[in-house]
Amino acid sequence: MQAPKGNGVVLQVHADRARCCGYGLCAQLCPEIYKLDENGLVYVEDAIVPPELEEQAREGASACPAEAITIEIVTA
Ligand code: SF4
Repeated sequence: MQAPKGNGVVLQVHADRARCCGYGLCAQLCPEIYKLDENGLVYVEDAIVPPELEEQAREGASACPAEAITIEIVTA
C-alpha cells in the first residue's frame, strides 16, 4: 500500500534489534534509514521516513530475512 503524500501521513520504521541477525540487507538497500552498529546489528537514527525514501525504506524492510523491521503509517 502506498502512503498518501503531502497530507501529514508518514511512514515510521521500527527495527527490532532482538530479531536482527546482521545480514545487512536493509542497510544496503536504504542506508539513509537503516544503519548498522559495530556489531553489524541494525539501528534507526530517525524513525520517520522522508517521502523521497519511502520506497527504499519499504524495500529494505521487506528484504530482511529475520523480519526485524516493521513499518507503520502514522499521522505526522
Ligand atoms: S536485513 Fe534484517 S537481519 Fe539484516 S541487518 Fe537489517 S534488520 Fe538486521
